[in-house]
Amino acid sequence: MEIQNAQSNEKILGIRREIAAKTGLKNMATKKVCFVSVDVEDDRNHPLKPLHQRTWEGVENLEKILNVFDNHNIPATLFVTGQALERFPELAKQWSKKYEIASHSFAHNFLNTMSKDEREQDLEDYINVYKKIFKKMPCGFRAPSHIIDKEQMKLLENKGFLYDSSIVPRFPFFIKYRGYRKKAPLTPYYPSRSNCRKKGDMKILEIPVSGLVLGVPLWGSFLRYIPFATYKDLFKVRAPMFICLTMHSWDSVFFRGIKSKNCGNRFVKILDKMIYFLKTKNYKFMNGENIVKAFKIDKA
Ligand SMILES: [Zn+2]
Repeated sequence: MEIQNAQSNEKILGIRREIAAKTGLKNMATKKVCFVSVDVEDDRNHPLKPLHQRTWEGVENLEKILNVFDNHNIPATLFVTGQALERFPELAKQWSKKYEIASHSFAHNFLNTMSKDEREQDLEDYINVYKKIFKKMPCGFRAPSHIIDKEQMKLLENKGFLYDSSIVPRFPFFIKYRGYRKKAPLTPYYPSRSNCRKKGDMKILEIPVSGLVLGVPLWGSFLRYIPFATYKDLFKVRAPMFICLTMHSWDSVFFRGIKSKNCGNRFVKILDKMIYFLKTKNYKFMNGENIVKAFKIDKA
């Protein structure tokens, strides 16, 4: 029996190594990787509301989520809008002591509604406010609502960004989502210049926002709605080599109305439980910067 177990463990390890080699994350051959991120923006993002009417409780109380990361001693990337950085520079400096701060665009406008000039201006505005606070360039980018295309990818590459994390490679077929286009690789990859949903020779790394079987995401709103037992079952079907645990700053804030189930402190508890569970499943938690470094080392 023991010999059998040892053999099957060896086999699983071999398969993992093989997958890891294919994904470019060889150093993590024995560990599955979980990219942890938070989109930090105004509450439930209201781009049509004038700026002065928006609320920022999620940003002001971000420590509710960060305390969970802290307690588990895990890294994370915070994709913060330029508007949030402008409004809360001191808070952002505090977060940056432990967490990577990356771009969630300046004004959180959907890229498909913007001209090339407007996109460039938005990136310029972002880089300016970021440099003013952190005295360096941002490394990563996530598009609002995950709407991204090859033009934006080229713009990001030209501006010196090292990675993008916008592409949703799978999505539950029964839900329509503006941020999901077509299938894409499920693990980090260098995109093609002609189609950013395919592998190619661009210098910028795509860290896809990968979920579980059938594309079920590990996103804040899904975590609040899907029973924990269902998630456990999904991991029994397949525990992917690469997953992305992501949420919004406002998931931890209590609000009423549509999509409010399990918001506030309940969400914080679910998050804590999920991270604990992922640890038992042997996931290694990483932020974007570290994935870029690991990818480069492994590719060398
Ligand atoms: Zn957003």
